[in-house]
Amino acid sequence: MELVLGSEPADRLEGCELMVLSPGVHLDHPLVQEAQRLGIPVLGELELAARLLSAPMLAVTGTNGKSTTTALCAHLLRRAGHAVFAGGNLGEPLISSLDLPTPDWAVVEVSSYQLEQLSQPGVLVPSIAVWLNLTPDHLDRHRSIERYADCKRRLFEGQGSRESGVFFADDPEVFSRAQGLCCRRRLFGREARHLAAGDILIQGRTLHAVGQGVRWHLPADRLLGDHNVENAAAAVLATREAGLLPDAIQQGLLDFVGLPHRLELVAERDGVRYVNDSKGTNVDSVVRSLSSFGASPIVWIAGGRGKGAPYTPLRPLIQAHVRHMILLGEDAERMERELAGCAACSRVEDLSRAVALARRLARPGEVVLLSPACASFDMFRDFEERGEVFRRLVLAGGEGA
Ligand code: ADP
Repeated sequence: MELVLGSEPADRLEGCELMVLSPGVHLDHPLVQEAQRLGIPVLGELELAARLLSAPMLAVTGTNGKSTTTALCAHLLRRAGHAVFAGGNLGEPLISSLDLPTPDWAVVEVSSYQLEQLSQPGVLVPSIAVWLNLTPDHLDRHRSIERYADCKRRLFEGQGSRESGVFFADDPEVFSRAQGLCCRRRLFGREARHLAAGDILIQGRTLHAVGQGVRWHLPADRLLGDHNVENAAAAVLATREAGLLPDAIQQGLLDFVGLPHRLELVAERDGVRYVNDSKGTNVDSVVRSLSSFGASPIVWIAGGRGKGAPYTPLRPLIQAHVRHMILLGEDAERMERELAGCAACSRVEDLSRAVALARRLARPGEVVLLSPACASFDMFRDFEERGEVFRRLVLAGGEGA
């Protein structure tokens, strides 16, 4: 195959029968427009893969929680003995599953970019599709929340009554858009009023199947935070729709290790829990992480390359949960200014000093939480490297290094 990098003359399209786009490519791209003008079919990678895929698909979308829910669904299905391909927007693209023996289930994380590229409704028909939530994001590309939401809704538009849609009833943006779809609708939420038999009612860390007397409990040290209870509820509903039995789901919930860098418990030393939430790269997700430890005070490590959004929404949460904040990176000064007076504050030069200081400050029963509210690129390659370094520093300290 010939590979062409850089700018692309339009006459390249001569003799071209099909154009397949990577999710990063916008439909406004001049070459895509030219292909459409010439009548050349344009597909996204996801659509091409879905057309060739023979396994049933369980698809997960939403603004936040996609990766966690995708990984949990895959784990529950595997735990119950199914052969599973898990990928899509997370890890391997779906197209690479076609090189492998056909699995029992393809569990696929789907982004709005991928959905935007579907050529028409009905080309992608997941047997089960999950919509977790919707908050403003990626508006640079979609331009309005309406258009962003329309992309998400496309995941369900090809479904009929034999396919299932799983929706978060407490998110009005999701709930309202779930009306009028043709799929078998399953809901989860904390308010009983929208729920019907078989839906899931969340109470604390217990999930109840409405009207069926079945319940599931979440482990105390993993899937931390209310948002992860929501992700778990979605995964339970989705895998029940895939035919899993309640006991198998409970076993799987108890031994799901979780994804790294998302409220990941790295170690417990001298009664202090060290938690890596390096994926907490924006203010929204830190709102979640700071609320995830009940009454345990937090020594909070934050900072990095800011994204321009104000940090002030964190003030009440810091007052309620944080005993000391340790700030580093490019945005440390701005964070200190915007969060002044909420909790004791120290500025440090790097993550190694941050962990050393946190270790000295934290008392038994407290949590040392890395949840930066910032991107990592000022000091690290990516959020994964930042999380790995944190983990190494924590574990090295415990061995007396
Ligand atoms: P995604 O793949 O959609 O980015 P992840 O599972 O990787 O989602 O989680 C990324 C971050 O989003 C987490 O660290 C957490 O702060 C936040 N998050 C996860 N699940 C939810 C949810 N259901 N609702 C809101 N925020 C969530």
